Amino acid sequence: MKQPLFGKFGAPNGDHMLGPIQKITAPMQRYAENEPADYVIVGVGAAGGVLLQRLARAGFRVIGIEAGPFWDTERDWVSDEAGSHNLYWEDLRITGGQDPLTLGANNCGKGVGGGSVHWAAFCPRLHPSDFHMHSADGVGVDWPFPYGELKPYYELLELEMPVAGPAYYPWGDPHGYPYGPHPMGGVGDVLIRGCTKLGIGVSIGGPVAIISGSHGDRPHCIYRGFCIQGCKVGAKASTLITHVPDALENGAEIRDNSMVARIELGKDRHVNGVMYFDQEGREHFQKAKAVIVSGYAIETPRLLLNSACPGFENGLANSSDTVGRYLMAQAGNVVLGRFEELIRMYKAPPAHAMTEEFYETDPQRDFVRGFAIQTVGPLPIAFAKQMMVAKGAWGWGLRRVMMDYNHWAAIALLGEILPWPENRVTLANEKDRFGIPIAKVTFNLHENDKKLIEFGKNKVIGIMRAAGAEEVVQESRYAHLVGAARMGNDSRTSVVDRYGRTHDISNLFVCDGSIMPTQGSANPGLTIQALAARTADYLISQGDAIFDSSKRNMERPPMREDLSPPGTWGKGVPRMK
Ligand SMILES: Cc1cc2nc3c(=O)[nH]c(=O)nc-3n(C[C@H](O)[C@H](O)[C@H](O)COP(=O)(O)OP(=O)(O)OC[C@H]3O[C@@H](n4cnc5c(N)ncnc54)[C@H](O)[C@@H]3O)c2cc1C
Ligand code: SF4
Repeated sequence: MKQPLFGKFGAPNGDHMLGPIQKITAPMQRYAENEPADYVIVGVGAAGGVLLQRLARAGFRVIGIEAGPFWDTERDWVSDEAGSHNLYWEDLRITGGQDPLTLGANNCGKGVGGGSVHWAAFCPRLHPSDFHMHSADGVGVDWPFPYGELKPYYELLELEMPVAGPAYYPWGDPHGYPYGPHPMGGVGDVLIRGCTKLGIGVSIGGPVAIISGSHGDRPHCIYRGFCIQGCKVGAKASTLITHVPDALENGAEIRDNSMVARIELGKDRHVNGVMYFDQEGREHFQKAKAVIVSGYAIETPRLLLNSACPGFENGLANSSDTVGRYLMAQAGNVVLGRFEELIRMYKAPPAHAMTEEFYETDPQRDFVRGFAIQTVGPLPIAFAKQMMVAKGAWGWGLRRVMMDYNHWAAIALLGEILPWPENRVTLANEKDRFGIPIAKVTFNLHENDKKLIEFGKNKVIGIMRAAGAEEVVQESRYAHLVGAARMGNDSRTSVVDRYGRTHDISNLFVCDGSIMPTQGSANPGLTIQALAARTADYLISQGDAIFDSSKRNMERPPMREDLSPPGTWGKGVPRMK
């Protein structure tokens, strides 16, 4: 019988063993740098973790090169807000434009699991209308395939993570969830009360990739609210615990603390590997038959641009001049309300109730597309920062507000901002500690975006007031960066094809949130992982032909349910399939 963890698996730097949630029972495979791996994946985050697991299970020699550490959930994580900042990508980036985005902790992760380690795990699907927005509303762009092609992967990932939520979720393509809904926290009660007063439908207890009953060896949620700090308990899904252990069991290697600086081009306009720096700053070159970039919507375009070379002077895969363009963020205004009664918003996962009543275009409004409204539960440090911005609280005034923390509730807007070409990632003059030019992010709101945010923000304020808040304040912010290497059928207007293969280089792929052509107003994590499973099925269906052939077989691949991590099938409460 296989014995889990201790004493069996040394973490990559060899000085400790991995803790109980990770259940890794075999030593990690090590591949030689001078022998080509089948696939090198740059970044083992939300998408990279799923790709690594699928490709390893299918028998490919696959290496994930990850800039951050391989987390040991026992040793490295704490249930403490101040102690968890190392989960984020905090390296220097430049932000600009008329509506500059806050970078750092508000966007991507750094470490195995990427952003799926610190996400709140809200897991709604995109709506069918998101896939043909340009045809319907004349804005943005249509996806290169309809919702129906991603739907089976939504269902699959909802089982693999798995997702808890209501038995009947009414919006978009109505569906149910494999695990039952969570009980309500104080903020959920506020959202329900406000929405009910105003006649707005609300979904309670999810959808969220946090288990409401035990799943295999993973325990259910204990409602202590440290989800954004990683969830030491293991109830929240992250690819670090859902997909990476199975990838390693099946022969994948992960090189952590390794920053890829360039993708190298060989002869015949094919890539032949990546150059990366290890933690000590030593340079390495890993040969590969194909490279998949899964580095997040900022680092992915940064790497493609930094890999410019003769023949690709504007960056790899950038003949369309769209690498870095059409970057999107969702409007994430947080509305805070003070109540006479205790709310205790730190208890329970922040993500546990929401409404998508306003998701679709409504001809009665003076803008197209829409927004969702969701519970959030800032812990005290985040709350203090919000109060400084929203209320101008400082000094003694801030201390008074903080003493009242348990009486406040926070509800967020999640609004669709459209893809615009001048919202983009470019290279700055500044360099990081390895001498690699860093990313500059430029962001501007357009007329439709501004009207949508104004309307949505007032709707959330109305709900907060209807719930009985005696004081209401709001902070403008953004969430969830995607786009910047978008997919499409036309190589003149997109970076990758419908399976994530770059139009320009046949053995170079991009697979992460950056390939999303539009973003809807659903949190993107489920869609990103569903896209990764779909791309993996495509690569697997093509076999070795993908490494040499420049011919593109665009046939839809069969879905490989047999490649799911163990425990996906036959466990848990009612299956919806
Ligand atoms: C506080 C917070 C809460 C969130 N909550 C939700 C939520 O509730 N629901 C939801 O759907 N989404 C949520 N998100 C967003 C979600 O986490 C991201 O959309 C998702 O993780 C992005 O996936 P990705 O694969 O594109 O990138 P990531 O998951 O960020 O993975 C990219 C990985 O690549 C690595 N990398 C980058 N460049 C290099 C390089 N050059 N060399 C080596 N490695 C590299 C990074 O270190 C990282 O590990 C949240 C985000 C934040 C910040
Ligand atoms: S509330 Fe649940 S999901 Fe969040 S950290 Fe605690 S156990 Fe994990």
